[in-house]
Amino acid sequence: MKVIEHLDRAKEPLISFEIVPPKRGGKLKDLLGILDDLIEFDPRFIDVTSHASDAVYEDTPAGIQRKVKRKRPGTLGICALIQKKYEIDAVPHVLCVNFTREETEDFLIELQYLEIENVLALRGDLPTYEKPVQDGRSVNRHAVDLVRQISNMNRGRYLEDLLDAEASDFCIGVAGYPEKHYEAPNMLTDVRRLKAKVDAGAEYVVTQMFFENPAYFEFVDLCRDEGIDVPIIPGLKVVSSKQQLTTIPRIFHVDIPFALSEEIRRSDPGDALEVGAEWTAAQARDLLDRGVPGIHFYVIGQSRAVRAVMKRLDYGRRRPTGP
Ligand code: FAD
Repeated sequence: MKVIEHLDRAKEPLISFEIVPPKRGGKLKDLLGILDDLIEFDPRFIDVTSHASDAVYEDTPAGIQRKVKRKRPGTLGICALIQKKYEIDAVPHVLCVNFTREETEDFLIELQYLEIENVLALRGDLPTYEKPVQDGRSVNRHAVDLVRQISNMNRGRYLEDLLDAEASDFCIGVAGYPEKHYEAPNMLTDVRRLKAKVDAGAEYVVTQMFFENPAYFEFVDLCRDEGIDVPIIPGLKVVSSKQQLTTIPRIFHVDIPFALSEEIRRSDPGDALEVGAEWTAAQARDLLDRGVPGIHFYVIGQSRAVRAVMKRLDYGRRRPTGP
């Protein structure tokens, strides 16, 4: 089923999760363990992130070497597995960066054949390596270009004119930024670019993580003022270690409020996760009370933190949505 259909039919806010494929050579068993831990919370869909090729520096017997590779392949296979094993809709992330439009079209065809009906269309973070584009191939520069490509396929328009081509039927989601995307000159410009993604065919928005709810509600108000009328699902992440007080702002360009950072900084090492879970649970309660369409949890690497939040929210027994 499509994400938008889940949202339309839900009688209560729905829960969704976002997971990350293992590092190349990593154990699928560990990821399945995370999923097994989270299924009881009745997620309506599970996003699987995608990772572009990038330049990495590796210590080898011949010295430090620069290599270009995808550190985390496997998005497609994991999505297929989620739908088959758990019968939960999977949402693969599809990127612009370091994928040609031709490769993207092939990927979308694979998704169709696997009966995966949802995609989250993203530009991707700019890598340190840019794959050369050859042989007349082309790339999508911004997520809006990718949304247009997918919307065109939904109308039966492929990159080349194909007679009698079958139209795809993807539900397209896109990213939004309650604290502004770090490259955008200001919030209004960023929101207008989000509007362009919706006008191009995006049916819902998932937000970047945020740690103070006013940021989300102000963002939603601005989106509505600018004519964005699709569901905007808040994304939440639990800060579960002291180290994340620096890695989260660096990687995701978001603020961690002083009260939360101080409490985590002063906590015993083993207690940081519980402090973070308490904060996220309070955020989630407030969001649910104020009628958000759902909550999207960034799981990233372990299930304990999200489980700690769900326990506090008394989910699992609550079984959120119909039908
Ligand atoms: P865009 O919508 O293209 O926006 C990027 C920047 O360009 C913004 O500053 C925007 O204002 C500006 N812009 C947009 N359109 C134009 C235009 N036409 N002209 C000029 N400027 C423009 N990254 C990954 O690599 N893999 C993932 O799986 C992944 N999953 C994510 C999931 C969610 C829910 C979120 C919120 C982010 C995710 N990201 C992921 C990170 C994301 O790829 C980065 O934040 C990236 O830098 C921007 O992606 P975007 O789709 O928002 O890009």
